[in-house]
Amino acid sequence: MATHDSDPIDCIVLGGGPAGLQAALTLARVHRSVALVDAGPGRNAAAAHMQNVVTRDGTPPATFRGIAREQLEAYSTVRLLDGTAVAAVAGEDDVAVELGDGRRLRARFLVLATGVTDLPLPLPGLAPHWGGQVAHCPFCHGHELGDRVVVLGGEPQREHPVRMMVGVAQHLTWLTDGVRLDPEVADGLRRLGVVVDERRAIDVVERDGRLVGIAVEGGDVVACDGVLAGGAWQQRSTLPAALGCAMLPDGAIEVDELGATSVARVLAAGDAAHRAAAGPGHSVIASAAAGQLAALGVVRALIA
Ligand SMILES: Cc1cc2nc3c(=O)[nH]c(=O)nc-3n(C[C@H](O)[C@H](O)[C@H](O)COP(=O)(O)OP(=O)(O)OC[C@H]3O[C@@H](n4cnc5c(N)ncnc54)[C@H](O)[C@@H]3O)c2cc1C
Repeated sequence: MATHDSDPIDCIVLGGGPAGLQAALTLARVHRSVALVDAGPGRNAAAAHMQNVVTRDGTPPATFRGIAREQLEAYSTVRLLDGTAVAAVAGEDDVAVELGDGRRLRARFLVLATGVTDLPLPLPGLAPHWGGQVAHCPFCHGHELGDRVVVLGGEPQREHPVRMMVGVAQHLTWLTDGVRLDPEVADGLRRLGVVVDERRAIDVVERDGRLVGIAVEGGDVVACDGVLAGGAWQQRSTLPAALGCAMLPDGAIEVDELGATSVARVLAAGDAAHRAAAGPGHSVIASAAAGQLAALGVVRALIA
């Protein structure tokens, strides 16, 4: 990729979600030149409100982003660019990024904060309710799902959200969608008051646009106010793989404590990346924290 001739800036941050916004802010605080490139709505855009974010519990995601961008604009070393990065190359001395409209950027470091995208839900009819009556994370939306909650899906890892929702939902059903549970697991959950239902889910049932139940094989309906489902994801951008970043088995970019990837001059933060020793954080606060650490990694390298 050809680059322009001017001196490289300190850092390009790809992605304007919590991770990228915080990375840009931390760089701005020490007057480092940074270009923040963002392609548009982030992962939680479907949700009217975000929760579990200290001082911002219940804030619309777009408001969070708007405040962050407004505050970043106060720093003269920050440039906010709307657009999609379509190519990136990491060289020995710098990194180059090309945007979809042909703009080219060059910097000494690159932070990938491009996030992840959620894979389709098990029932297509759940999709219109995603981020409202249907969510994947008990911390983010469990409290709002209402009295009657269905956890949908039979993968072994669903046991965690089921256990987390005990005591949050008054009537909790684990609808395993045809998967037979280990009888010991099922009995243990029943003792906690969980209804274990191993029938296959067929469709959603709505009334006046609201989700009111899940139709199961045999013609019954499991009534509910909210559903926990989904949560499977993949990288939103192809650039981490194109750059040759080492990936973890779950599909995340492997990083160290300060966001360094396996590619020199390329760091990563947020939902897209985590350390091998830790699972994915996948929250606003965890992503912002990782963005700050990646920016610290950049600053340390710049002053070294
Ligand atoms: C429905 C739903 C509700 C959620 N609710 C909550 C909640 O209440 N509380 C909570 O803590 N967490 C919540 N989460 C999780 C939260 O959304 C994520 O953990 C968080 O957004 C991750 O931040 P991020 O910066 O890594 O990625 P994102 O917020 O997804 O931002 C990534 C950004 O990168 C940009 N991008 C991608 N590729 C490119 C490219 N090539 N060029 C330029 N830009 C690019 C995208 O446009 C996007 O703006 C929710 C998730 C979902 C799915």
